[in-house]
Amino acid sequence: MANAMYDKLIEHVVSQRPELAPYTELFQNLTSANENNDHKFGKKQFRKLYNTAIVLEEDLEDAVSELDDLAMALGACEKCWGDNNRCSKCRGNGVTGYYMPDDKLFRQLVLPALKRLPWIGVVEEQSV
Ligand SMILES: [Zn+2]
Repeated sequence: MANAMYDKLIEHVVSQRPELAPYTELFQNLTSANENNDHKFGKKQFRKLYNTAIVLEEDLEDAVSELDDLAMALGACEKCWGDNNRCSKCRGNGVTGYYMPDDKLFRQLVLPALKRLPWIGVVEEQSV
């Protein structure tokens, strides 16, 4: 039995994140197998699921790494961004600007965006 809300959710996710479309078939197969109490989840499906998990894990590691770089570029705690009073690194103080921003990462990740904002008035420094 198809779940209309689930289908709607998948449709919404794919419209927002088209790069996730390849995963939807797999998840739909998994849920329909569960709904039918179907035990045909064999080696092929397991392999497909395993490979998908590997790709998702790599994507997650990339995203976490990029987020860590952004935190360092902004001088924030990369563990909690100042959201966790029990953070072993910052004790919840690590909002942006709490630490000295990493110069190289700031120039790479933040400065190009600031240059596009005329009200900030970022002036290119002259190279020596
Ligand atoms: Zn922290």
